[in-house]
Amino acid sequence: MEFLTPPPDHPSRLRLRQWLRDNPDPDHDALAGAGYVAPHWPTPYGLDAGPLDQLGIDEELRAAGVSLPVNPIGIGWAGPTILVGGTQEQKDRYLRPMLAGREIWCQLFSEPGHGSDLANLSTRAVRDGDHYVVNGQKLWTSDAHRAHFGILIVRTDPDARKHRGISYLICPMDTPGITVRPVYDMTGTFYLNEVFFDDVRIPAANLVGAENDGWRLAKVTLGNERVSLSGEGALWGSGPTAQDLVERLRERGGVADPILRQRVAQVYIVGEILRLIRLRTVAAAVQGRPPGPEASIRKALSDEHGQEVMAVAKELAGSAGMLLDHTPFDGEHQIWDHGFLFAPALTVGGGTAQIQRNIIAEAVLGLPREIDVEAGLTWNEARAAVAAARR
Ligand SMILES: Cc1cc2nc3c(=O)[nH]c(=O)nc-3n(C[C@H](O)[C@H](O)[C@H](O)COP(=O)(O)OP(=O)(O)OC[C@H]3O[C@@H](n4cnc5c(N)ncnc54)[C@H](O)[C@@H]3O)c2cc1C
Repeated sequence: MEFLTPPPDHPSRLRLRQWLRDNPDPDHDALAGAGYVAPHWPTPYGLDAGPLDQLGIDEELRAAGVSLPVNPIGIGWAGPTILVGGTQEQKDRYLRPMLAGREIWCQLFSEPGHGSDLANLSTRAVRDGDHYVVNGQKLWTSDAHRAHFGILIVRTDPDARKHRGISYLICPMDTPGITVRPVYDMTGTFYLNEVFFDDVRIPAANLVGAENDGWRLAKVTLGNERVSLSGEGALWGSGPTAQDLVERLRERGGVADPILRQRVAQVYIVGEILRLIRLRTVAAAVQGRPPGPEASIRKALSDEHGQEVMAVAKELAGSAGMLLDHTPFDGEHQIWDHGFLFAPALTVGGGTAQIQRNIIAEAVLGLPREIDVEAGLTWNEARAAVAAARR
């Protein structure tokens, strides 16, 4: 789809090529300082780059073999929210080390019982002088065990309606009273954690935006996606694609079993549809149009597609596929095994498959909104109503 990439003499490409000649082998600090880590951010942190510039910069960096810092929650979510709601002091303190990957971030949103129903979160923060004192628990926190900071949403006003009494804090992860425990998943490793807060004192200066206005900022956090042509892997943009699967099968002489062959064709077709939907989203951004329904539809389709790609890869090995180290792809067993074992998480993290369908039903198809019986209640009243219903 070359029509979406800027021409070889596009100014964004020429500027970056010149910068790379002046700064051969740039480290992450140099890339962050020059605005190339998040070029879509405003200066001085980014380059105010429009979609076409971003695509040109992406391609040039890839062609030059330059690796960017990996700090997905920081750069993808925390940074854009601090840019929108943070004070100048917060921007000065946090954004540069975040962009350079020197300080890793995690997202302390989900709680036991409050994932899809996030606005009902119950971790409490009480103002005490120039600190907030936080008590409660978060769950499924990716990378909490190695993060320096977390974006933390807490309830500061239990008497307000549930969306209104939430505040957004920057939480230094080494604050006394924080306990991080690993949650192992079936891939055999962990990067998810549960995080406990026992009288954790967070400076009031770490409040992002106004007190009790945290829900608006949480929506900013969750609504950020950078324009990029890279990352078409079946596991949230990484890992192998359906095309990779088909190419490997071609190299091995195809698939003899007609039923499996049909399933391979099916995942290939869905993979192509997803690629085109993705290009449509990028094309909309390049032309200055809003993303439209494609983004939600893509998430709903691609999560299930990722699971199907990995399931087919294991089934191609026959009954031996039930074991680790058994796929049709010698030398690559680990990649496909890991993908297969991780894939069930795809339809849960970042909004479950059912929640995606709710969004599509309401925002795309215009169906009536889901009835939220607690919406008109304060958080305390909602808790009492739930307790009464359970009795
Ligand atoms: C790999 C991974 C990484 C994650 N990383 C993070 C992280 O870094 N930080 C963080 O804060 N969270 C993280 N999460 C948590 C994730 O956001 C939640 O798991 C997700 O929002 C679902 O919430 P839940 O687990 O509480 O399930 P629930 O919300 O309890 O859902 C249970 C089931 O009920 C269904 N359901 C719930 N409400 C509705 C409804 N209104 N209509 C129809 N069906 C409904 C759901 O679809 C699901 O099938 C991660 C999750 C995963 C899997």
